[in-house]
Amino acid sequence: LAKKQRKTDISIYSPDIDSQLSNDLLIASAIRNALRNKEFHMVYQPQYDFSNHKFNAVEALIRWNSKELQRTVSPYEFIPVAEASSLIIKLGYAVIEMVGQQISEWNKQEIKFDRVSINISPKQLQQDDFQLQLETILKKYGVSPDQVELEITETTLMEHPENSIHKLELLQQAGFTIAIDDFGTGYSSMQYLADIPLSKLKIDRAFITELETNKKNQLIVKMITDMALAMNFTVLAEGAETLDQVKRLNTMGCHMIQGYYYAKPMPSTDLLSFIRESHNSAAIGEFINGTIE
Ligand code: C2E
Ligand code: MG
Ligand code: MG
Ligand code: MG
Repeated sequence: LAKKQRKTDISIYSPDIDSQLSNDLLIASAIRNALRNKEFHMVYQPQYDFSNHKFNAVEALIRWNSKELQRTVSPYEFIPVAEASSLIIKLGYAVIEMVGQQISEWNKQEIKFDRVSINISPKQLQQDDFQLQLETILKKYGVSPDQVELEITETTLMEHPENSIHKLELLQQAGFTIAIDDFGTGYSSMQYLADIPLSKLKIDRAFITELETNKKNQLIVKMITDMALAMNFTVLAEGAETLDQVKRLNTMGCHMIQGYYYAKPMPSTDLLSFIRESHNSAAIGEFINGTIE
């Protein structure tokens, strides 16, 4: 019967659109059940800082092994589905709960990252009570806003620039820091960029992948890095996978790297041993002292 309904909605029949739609419906319904059954969990990807050779910040990324769909569903697949409906609101708060709980555990163990980044969707940020809800959840876990960074994509910002900037200013006043995610893929206005209370700019992976050979990407990364330096925010490159990319990024003046070259996203249990090992590791010491500096 679902099929019958869909056909009356869609005037131009296309098998592709039809199967895409039914797949989205399937995923949306599975997300609803998964929220109830607590099937989501978070992994954490370390961010390397050239200035002190440490991994003092991590990004929280959601993971989902769906019982119903009997597979691992990538956030690239289910986040857009959640974003197309109001499901992203519930899912977004579930993420904040999971990360808040994790940070509170780290606090008890006296493990302190400078910041843990959380991805925030456009619809979440546009909620009138977003800041209040965010602060209430974190407070419940005894987590202070100055332990959290909020990642907003460039596209999100430019959808409602004035409203977003106002909200981000209030969040910054409360102690959160703001990072712009996937930078370079949207259309930022320089005017707005100067107005955002920004502390970190994350260059999209698309510009890093072919950095060795792609002259245009080299120019773009250099331009973004120079701008970030002039405007006084930290610039991080997403998705560096090779030593050559890391070296180039360091030379260009990039401050931080988040990419498979150093570490993939991992469960919190692996994260602690990763950090411990990397801070002692001869391999990393050699790399830092010998190759980069
Ligand atoms: P993002 O926020 O830009 O996160 C970076 C993505 O790049 C992550 O994919 C990460 O695993 C991947 N990545 C990092 N380094 C490398 C690398 O060297 N090579 C390659 N190939 N990939 C790398 P992931 O975890 O699959 O997440 C995909 C996107 O889904 C995220 O992009 C973000 O937009 C969204 N997302 C993930 N978790 C959440 C969440 O909790 N809430 C919201 N709203 N969105 C989320
Ligand atoms: Mg992100
Ligand atoms: Mg990104
Ligand atoms: Mg993204």
